[in-house]
Amino acid sequence: MALSDILSRIAAAEAAAGRAPGSVTLIAVSKVQPAARIEAVLAAGHRVFGENYVQEAQSKWPAWRARFPGIRLHMIGPLQSNKAKAAVELFDTIQTLDRPSLAERLARLAEARGACPELFVQVNTGEEPQKGGVAPGLADGFIRAVRGLGLPLAGAMCIPPEGTDPVPHFRLLRAIAEGNGLPFLSMGMSADFESAIAEGATHVRVGSAIFGARDYGSG
Ligand SMILES: *Cc1c(COP(=O)(O)O)cnc(C)c1O
Repeated sequence: MALSDILSRIAAAEAAAGRAPGSVTLIAVSKVQPAARIEAVLAAGHRVFGENYVQEAQSKWPAWRARFPGIRLHMIGPLQSNKAKAAVELFDTIQTLDRPSLAERLARLAEARGACPELFVQVNTGEEPQKGGVAPGLADGFIRAVRGLGLPLAGAMCIPPEGTDPVPHFRLLRAIAEGNGLPFLSMGMSADFESAIAEGATHVRVGSAIFGARDYGSG
C-alpha cells in the first residue's frame, strides 16, 4: 500500500543523508480523508497522525484512540485561541504555536491541567501574509518568550510557499531551530519530504501521498 511505499522512501532518504534509521517520524496527515482510508492505515500499524481542524479531529479520534493503542496526534493547522482548550485536551503535539496570545493561553491551560502537549513553533519562512507562523526575524525573541512562560518547546515547523524551491526554507528553519537549541524539525510534505530529510527534518507531514487526493466536496 501507499503507506509502505512512503516508509521505504523515508528509510532510503535517511540512508542517503547518512542519518540513523528511524530518525524521521512520519506524520500521516488525515484531514478530510474518509474514515475507511484512515482505518486502513491504522490497521497497517501506523500510529502518528496530523490533523488541521480541531472540531474535525474531535469528532474522529477519541473512538480510534480507544481501539488502537499508542496513537499520537499532531495539530498542524492554524489554532484559534478559542479552540486552544479543546486542542490541549486532544493533541499530543501542537506544531502551530505562532503568537504571544496563543502562548499565554496555552500556558494558562497547562497550569490548570498540570500538563501540556509538546509544542513546536511555526515559522512563516516565506513571510506570506495569508499564512500562520512567526516571521523569521522575530523567531528568536518569540522562542525566548515562550520559554519564559515555562512551555515545553521541542521543535520548529514550516510550510514553504507553494511553487517555489522549498530547500532555502528548510535551511532557514533548521538554522532557527539549531540557533535556539530546538531538537525537532517538522518540514516536508508529499511533494518534497525526501529533500526535507536531506536538510535535517525529524518529522515529515505526508497526506495525499499516503491517503490519496483530498476531496473537499463542492460545498
Ligand atoms: C495538508 C497538510 C499537509 C499534507 O499535505 P500533502 O501535500 O497532502 O502531503 C502537510 N502539512 C500541513 C501543514 C498541511 O496542512
